[in-house]
Amino acid sequence: MTEPVLFTRNLCKRFGALEASSDVSLDLRPGEIHALIGPNGAGKSTLIKQLAGNISPDSGSVWFHGQDVTGLDTIARARLGLARTFQISALAMQHTVLQNVILGALGQRQAALRFFGNIMKNKALRAESEQVLDRVGLLEHASTLTGELSHGQRRLLEVAVALSLRPKAFLMDEPMAGLGADGSARMTGFLDGLRREAPILLVEHDMDAVFTLADRISVLVYGQIIATGTVSEIRENPEVQRAYLGD
Ligand code: ADP
Ligand code: MG
Repeated sequence: MTEPVLFTRNLCKRFGALEASSDVSLDLRPGEIHALIGPNGAGKSTLIKQLAGNISPDSGSVWFHGQDVTGLDTIARARLGLARTFQISALAMQHTVLQNVILGALGQRQAALRFFGNIMKNKALRAESEQVLDRVGLLEHASTLTGELSHGQRRLLEVAVALSLRPKAFLMDEPMAGLGADGSARMTGFLDGLRREAPILLVEHDMDAVFTLADRISVLVYGQIIATGTVSEIRENPEVQRAYLGD
């Protein structure tokens, strides 16, 4: 059995009396899309935030590429190749689509902005960033101001920014949210190919997308993982049916 790229051991996180993560152990294996599903308030985003380093667990650990990263912040984890997408606010709306990818590729947006003029003249970086935009279907919008993109296009741009860091794993919190049928279909097709490059931990409410994409699914209810398995194992699991999927 190959070593998981990313895993947690016994993560616990409380908000006052509420146990948002209760002894969560989860792993993300090379090449897979591992979907994390569960009702609203189950603790999915809280788990993603502990994986990305936005919040610290009360106990337990997070491991990435054989290293205990529990004490590292988001920037340090991103530098190791752990990409988190869909922090919409992270896009610079007054800059163009291409500029956002280039800035993302540099990884240190704040520092990068100070040298912006020079950076935009870097031909290799520019070519690489255009290639990434082409992959998500946004190359024709390279010169568009980010603030003028549609919601769906911004979401694709978020993926492009994450991609430009050449990540070793992706964390995605509801990438299909608000995309509509066409947008979801495009994103689904894109994520399908992306898993070969880096495994994806995918929090998603769109069950069509989850059942299409997931190699494995974990079900989180009240902070606890009640089941992990393949799509058919999860769909046929009576406990999951009761707790989440409904009849
Ligand atoms: P999900 O993403 O599965 O909908 P969340 O992880 O966002 O769930 O939230 C899990 C629970 O933790 C919810 O009851 C939520 O209200 C609570 N929660 C999340 N973040 C905080 C916080 N910073 N302070 C207090 N409670 C929080
Ligand atoms: Mg959430």
